[in-house]
Amino acid sequence: MDILLERSKSIDFAVKQAKNKARLCLFPNCSNAAIKSHVFQRNGILNQIASKGHVYKVEPTNIFERSKKGSLLFKRTGINDVFTFPGYCKDHDNSVFKKLESGNPDFYAVQNQFLLGYRCICQEIRIKEISYDCLSGVDVTHFHPASISQFKLSAAGYLKGIENLLIFKKILEEGIINSDYSHYSFVTLKIPRVELCISAPLTISYDRLIHIPRELQLKKLLEVPIETTMFNTFPVKDYSYVIIGFCKNFENKWANEMKALFENSSTKTILKALSDLVSARCEFWCMSEKLFLSILKKIREEYKVFFMQNVLDHNKDLLVNFNLFQDLR
Ligand SMILES: [Zn+2]
Repeated sequence: MDILLERSKSIDFAVKQAKNKARLCLFPNCSNAAIKSHVFQRNGILNQIASKGHVYKVEPTNIFERSKKGSLLFKRTGINDVFTFPGYCKDHDNSVFKKLESGNPDFYAVQNQFLLGYRCICQEIRIKEISYDCLSGVDVTHFHPASISQFKLSAAGYLKGIENLLIFKKILEEGIINSDYSHYSFVTLKIPRVELCISAPLTISYDRLIHIPRELQLKKLLEVPIETTMFNTFPVKDYSYVIIGFCKNFENKWANEMKALFENSSTKTILKALSDLVSARCEFWCMSEKLFLSILKKIREEYKVFFMQNVLDHNKDLLVNFNLFQDLR
C-alpha cells in the first residue's frame, strides 16, 4: 500500500482513539466519567452572538488535507459544539459552576473569575491530554525517523505543558474549594461589545525566540513552571468583558500591558489587540457570523499563514501586520 496512505490511516486511527477515549472528571478526587462540559454559557453568552444557533470557529485541518484546504479552516459550528471538552462529571459540572450559570452572573466577583479561569485551564489540560494521546498512539512503522523524533518531542512538550497547567489548576482549586483566593488574581474590564469569545491560558515569553530553530523553541517550552495568564473575553448585552489573570510571584509584564491597553485605548486599538491575540496567541476562539463576514478573504488567508508559522513563538513582541477586525463597523 502507498506509504502516505499508511501514514494517514495510522494518524486517523490514533486521533479517533484519543478523541473517543473515556475521560474522568477533572475535579479533584472524583473518579466519575466526564461529560461534555462548556467553557462559556450557552444561554447568555454563546446564544446571543449565534445566528440560527451557529457561530464561526477556527479548526486545524487533517494533516493530509492541508495541501488542498490549507492548515486552518474557519468553520460554521453549532453552539453546542463550541468551547466544549470532556471536563467534569454531571454532578460537578452542575454544582461547581452553578453561580456562573445563574441568570445574571457578576463577572467582577472573585468566585466567578476563578470559575471562569478554572474552566479555561481545564479545557486546555484536556485538549493537551488528547493531543498527547494522539501523538503517542500513532503506529510509527511507516514514518521517517525525523518525524518520529518530532512526534516524541511534541509529545514531551504536551506533557510539560500539562504539568505546568496542573500547578495553576491546583491554585484555582484553592479558591474554588477552600475560598483561598490569595495565590492568583483576576481583573475584569468592560470594553465596547465585540462578538468574539476567547478563553485561553497564555504563556508569554520575554526572550527573543523568533530566530531560534523549532527544536530549541520546544526545549525552551519544556521549562516549568511558566508564567501563565488566563485571558477571557466575551460579550454580554451592550459590552464585552475582558478578564485577565495574574499569577502571584511573576512579573506579569504582558498582563499589565494588556490591562492598561484594554482600560485606556480607543475602540480601534482594542480591536487590533484582539486581532493580535487570536492571530498570535490562541487557537480557541469563536465569533459571530456578522464578525466573520466583516473579515476580508485576503486577511483571513494572511491570518492562516501567520498562525501556522508562529504557533510556537510565545514572544511578547511578536508583531502581527494585519488586523482581522479592521473593517468592523
Ligand atoms: Zn466529578
